[in-house]
Amino acid sequence: MNSKALVLFSGGQDSTTCLAWALERYAHVETIGFAYGQRHSVELECRKTIRQRLQTDFPEWSAKLGEDHMLDLSVLGQISDTALTQDKAIEFHKSGLPNTFVPGRNILFFTFASAVAYRRGLEVLVGGMCETDYSGYPDCRDNTLKALQVAMSLGLDSPMVVETPLMWIDKAATWQMAQALGGDKLVELIRQDTHTCYMGDRSVPHEWGFGCGACPACDLRSQGYKSFSEEVVVA
Ligand code: ZN
Repeated sequence: MNSKALVLFSGGQDSTTCLAWALERYAHVETIGFAYGQRHSVELECRKTIRQRLQTDFPEWSAKLGEDHMLDLSVLGQISDTALTQDKAIEFHKSGLPNTFVPGRNILFFTFASAVAYRRGLEVLVGGMCETDYSGYPDCRDNTLKALQVAMSLGLDSPMVVETPLMWIDKAATWQMAQALGGDKLVELIRQDTHTCYMGDRSVPHEWGFGCGACPACDLRSQGYKSFSEEVVVA
C-alpha cells in the first residue's frame, strides 16, 4: 500500500505490535507519543529503545520508519484524577471501570494525532485499542473510534482512516500477530523492551517481560503470554 500512517505508540506491547503491523503494510510510518503526567515515564523511555531496535534489527522496516512526534499533554494530568496520573491504588468504580481510566484520553490522543497527521500528509491513524480483553474503557471501543474517524475526516475535510488491528483479538493472539509479522526476533523485542505494567516496575524479569506481576495490566500480559507459549508448544 502507498498510504502513509501515523501510529499511536506508547511503548507497550499493543502499540509496538501495531507499529510492526503498520511497517509491514504501509509505505511510510511515523509514530506519535504523549506525555500526560503519567505516574511512570518508564514507558516513554521504552519507546526510544524499541524504535532503535526496529531500525537496527529489521532492515526491511527501517527505511519506512519515519519521524517520532512527542506531544506534551500534561494538561490531561491536571484535569483527571486517576491511578495512572496520581499516586493512588488501582481500584474499581461502581460503574465497573477501574480508576486507571483517564476520561477522554483516547479521544484527545486521536484528535491531536489527526492534526499532526494532517500536517505531515499521513492519512491513516493506527491505534492498539482492543475491546476483547481490555478493562472496558469506553473510548477504546470500536464504535467510539468509528465515530471519531467520521468526525476527524469531516473536521479536517480530508479522509482520516482509523485502523485498530487488535480490536477483536485477545492478548495471546496479539503475541501470535507479532510472531507472524516479525518472527521470534519481534516476539523477543516485545518481551524484553515493551512496557505494560501500571506500576512502572521494570526490576523483575518474567518470561512474559518486566512488570510487578500483580496489577491488572501485568495480569493480562502474563495470561496472554502463557496461552500463546502453550499454543506454540502444542503446535
Ligand atoms: Zn504490573
